[in-house]
Amino acid sequence: MYENIRIVLVSTSHPGNIGATARAMKNMGLSELYLVNPHVFPHADASARASGADDLLAKATVCASLEEAVAGCSLVFGASARLRSLPWPLAEPREAAVQIINAHQQAPVAVVFGREHSGLTNDELLCCNALVHIPCNETFSSLNVAAAVQVLSYEIHMAGRQGITEVATDSPLATADEIERFFQHLEETLVEIEFLDPDKPRQLMRRLRRLYNRARLEETEVNILRGILTAAQKQARNRLQ
Ligand code: SAH
Repeated sequence: MYENIRIVLVSTSHPGNIGATARAMKNMGLSELYLVNPHVFPHADASARASGADDLLAKATVCASLEEAVAGCSLVFGASARLRSLPWPLAEPREAAVQIINAHQQAPVAVVFGREHSGLTNDELLCCNALVHIPCNETFSSLNVAAAVQVLSYEIHMAGRQGITEVATDSPLATADEIERFFQHLEETLVEIEFLDPDKPRQLMRRLRRLYNRARLEETEVNILRGILTAAQKQARNRLQ
């Protein structure tokens, strides 16, 4: 499913971390592991820590340089434990994941992780379009490399699911003018049932607009809401008669 999303580990020293990375990836539906000059690979510790994700290790691509691992990628994020002096675009995992999900349909994309002891060099960071930093305890900000892969993979998985949910809605999203007509109907009804005083409207309509806009209403949902408004109007009018 995510054949265009690469997780790249640069010069990892502990084979156990490579195995733990494969497991973290497979749990989140990722499969493309690239290893740039791993110190020892393959290794029994990698297989042990992969516990069931050995298939990712078996098909991992071992490269001699970072350039080789990110060749053909339209978007490359460098995961960094420190906020660098380098003035480079910086994203949090959640926004990086949305960009990755949007981009991977057209071309390969990569997230690059550095060495356990020294991270990524500045030259390696220059191969990346942007940095991604996992916000954490500022005085202890360096995660184990496989744990950092887990966080990024999880966010990619969640961003991907969001896409699926949107496609899987049973009716199309309401258009701006349908929503506008709903707001007018809502306001008219609230006045009619004397919940909204047109002389003292306060912030009510603005707040309600914000609430409904947040929900990204579908066409059928707008129809239901407008049906409720019509029923409320009918009741109010009956009482007046
Ligand atoms: N001592 C190194 C830390 C290396 S941790 C340093 O100061 O750079 C190994 C790798 O895990 C890092 O290169 C980075 O890719 C990833 N990583 C660890 N913590 C992270 C964090 N908070 N945000 C993003 N990536 C992180």
